[in-house]
Amino acid sequence: MSQISRKKRKEYIKAGGSFCINCGGGNISAGKIESEGREAWQVVQCYDCGGEWNDVFRLIGVDDIILPEDDPMIPVVFGNKERSDGDPETA
Ligand SMILES: [Zn+2]
Repeated sequence: MSQISRKKRKEYIKAGGSFCINCGGGNISAGKIESEGREAWQVVQCYDCGGEWNDVFRLIGVDDIILPEDDPMIPVVFGNKERSDGDPETA
């Protein structure tokens, strides 16, 4: 895949990966998305030219966040710090 120019990669990404990055054909098929850490990828192959490459996805945001209602996170309150910091008036 090293012969694919940066310009072509950009065009491919801009088009949402809707055509073959090698021959430009639309007869492509994407496999299952796999993920690890903050990256995900899927194998895509072209039936016209036989090319195969990975579409790579990155975490760009969060959505549809559901927060627990009956078990709210209560901020942990630490002990009164003023007392443990030593009393400057006893000098
Ligand atoms: Zn192709």
